[in-house]
Amino acid sequence: MFTKILIANRGEIACRVAATARRLGVKTVAVYSDADANAKHVAACDEAVHIGGSAPRDSYLQWQRIIDAAKATGAQAIHPGYGFLSENEDFAQACAANGLVFIGPPASAIQAMGLKAESKRLMEAAGVPLVPGYHGTDQSPALLQAEADRIGYPVLIKASAGGGGKGMRAVDKAEDFMAALESCKREAINSFGSDAVLVEKYVQRPRHIEIQVFGDTHGQCVYLFERDCSVQRRHQKVLEEAPAPGMTPELREQMGRAAVAAAQAVGYVGAGTVEFIVEQPGGYDRPQDMRFFFMEMNTRLQVEHPVTEAITGLDLVEWQLRVASREPLPLRQDQLQIHGHAIEARICAENPDKQFLPATGTLAVYRKPAHVAFLPPLPQAGAGRGEGHVRFDDGVREGDAISPYYDSMVAKLIVHGRSRDEALARLDAALAQTHIVGLTTNVQFLRHVVQSGAFAQAQLDTALIQREAVVLFEQDRVGQATAVAAAVAQTLMAERQLETSDPFSRRDGWRPFGLTQRRFDFDYRGQTLSATLTYAHDGALHLAVGDASGGLAFSSAADGAFELHWQDQRLWVHTHTLGEQVAVFTPLGATTLTALDALAHAGEVAAEGGRLTAPMPGKVVSFAVKAGDAVKKGQPLAVMEAMKMEHTIAAPADGTVAELLYAPGDQVSEGAELLKLALA
Ligand code: ADP
Ligand code: ADP
Ligand code: MG
Repeated sequence: MFTKILIANRGEIACRVAATARRLGVKTVAVYSDADANAKHVAACDEAVHIGGSAPRDSYLQWQRIIDAAKATGAQAIHPGYGFLSENEDFAQACAANGLVFIGPPASAIQAMGLKAESKRLMEAAGVPLVPGYHGTDQSPALLQAEADRIGYPVLIKASAGGGGKGMRAVDKAEDFMAALESCKREAINSFGSDAVLVEKYVQRPRHIEIQVFGDTHGQCVYLFERDCSVQRRHQKVLEEAPAPGMTPELREQMGRAAVAAAQAVGYVGAGTVEFIVEQPGGYDRPQDMRFFFMEMNTRLQVEHPVTEAITGLDLVEWQLRVASREPLPLRQDQLQIHGHAIEARICAENPDKQFLPATGTLAVYRKPAHVAFLPPLPQAGAGRGEGHVRFDDGVREGDAISPYYDSMVAKLIVHGRSRDEALARLDAALAQTHIVGLTTNVQFLRHVVQSGAFAQAQLDTALIQREAVVLFEQDRVGQATAVAAAVAQTLMAERQLETSDPFSRRDGWRPFGLTQRRFDFDYRGQTLSATLTYAHDGALHLAVGDASGGLAFSSAADGAFELHWQDQRLWVHTHTLGEQVAVFTPLGATTLTALDALAHAGEVAAEGGRLTAPMPGKVVSFAVKAGDAVKKGQPLAVMEAMKMEHTIAAPADGTVAELLYAPGDQVSEGAELLKLALA
């Protein structure tokens, strides 16, 4: 085993790797960018080396500096995490050339699986089933169109070098093919530096099921079962679980063997994932009809590896370190077993109501669920396996910022249960206890998915989120009036506290003679909600919010938590205030209100019409219009890239483009005006 390794990554995965290294007595070296000088992953390691500016190309992708840092600190090996350099064969080779072990597969395996089209040709030869399609080198548009026509619509055009859900276009009919091909190639060349594409049949209502594989340097290769990652938005995973619901032992073995064959065909060593797209022509209830096709192999540790750890009781990072130090795989295929069910939810800084637009901000309040473990329970812990039912992997702390430089994942919440139902119930409860204020996240949206009938009944396919949109994007489940009652209670408690600490600041207890009522106004999603609080002679409180009214009481607060009694309801509530914002968390759901001070807002004017601003800091990719162009409402005007995603900025109304204020390639800050539009 190594005595010291360098972790060439950041965030949760860097912390994750460091935790296992620490447990194994291996020293760790972190690398960090300017933005990460005080990051959690730096604190999680024994040593740290600054490697450059905040943008990944100035730091985490600067592989010469990373290799220099490893040599300077005496690290023997480099763990690349996922993303960044993890699938870069030149980096893997450079490690070897510098006498360092790359904790991952051989460079040749990365290269063989790096391009989707080439890897499909290899897999075809190895007898792994493929989606019907064209993976050839002739890229003439006419030939690609002819192939699409032959395959039959709908088809999917994929950037061969693509990843992370980018560079894909579904095409429904022949007439749309050329336009989609052009836009796919444009995105591919911008994001991946190559515009080679492949065309394949678009599988209807498919499931994404992937197999975790592990190879060693002694020629052994095993599969650690499957993960179902069908719940996706924009072809990116949102929830992942293991085992896949409805999986039969026969299909599991077939898929496992196909995955091992795929890995062996490229001489695979270390942790890898073979992704399959699974057709379910018989519907959700007939897994025996499922057909699987190879999609791609990810030659690294995957974001969702913890669900496999939970059901196998193994530490995959430990396996990676052992295999990289040339030890044989710790277990044989017949020694591997599935225990219970695990689900992971990716908690991301994003706004589900705005097409999952990534968000930036500060984790002003960051509370994790109770009973949390970090590493997977160890197999040698024996019967005590169940102690870590809830695992929370993150790379941030309260007060940290989610910046525009890196991806939007804040944390991963992983739960384990004896059954899927038990795991689901734990996940919902743990999400309810996850309080993030100061940053827009998908936590409530995740609860809606987890609570949906479709997910609960495992009616899984990659379109689940679109299909269930009506239920999933429904407004907050904590009623508006209840949220207002909680916010009023919170205000009264805060005043009482102020009173006890400062006897001259008497507001609640002291009331001008005759004042028996107070009014509270809150903004709730652009709507003003008013509440009237009435003080009775005996000190009892009565609160009216719209049509709802009744007695109000609350237990004394501890740590922002109290029991709210209003009307016939009794509810355990947590509130967190941030300036004028009151975030209300209840077991039913959570929401945020803004306390309105009538005077403060009296002078406010409505937003100007023709300003088009950047929704977040990022780079201008292209403008779809030029000065003088007439545009229609909803027409795309500009494309921005931020947090590894493209965002289209559309015209808010009909008008004429007056002026473009930036050029493609320019970096812009949040709120920067991109172009001027004269409204019609
Ligand atoms: P897949 O490619 O199958 O969707 P994942 O969901 O594991 O795989 O990851 C999505 C993509 O984003 C991958 O290319 C991964 O390497 C990258 N990625 C995810 N999280 C991070 C991160 N924190 N830093 C850098 N890259 C990341
Ligand atoms: P990436 O490298 O971006 O992860 P993948 O090839 O793994 O690209 O595909 C990502 C997702 O796109 C899959 O998980 C699936 O939801 C969808 N997808 C890919 N290929 C097909 C297909 N042939 N038919 C339908 N959906 C597909
Ligand atoms: Mg993929």
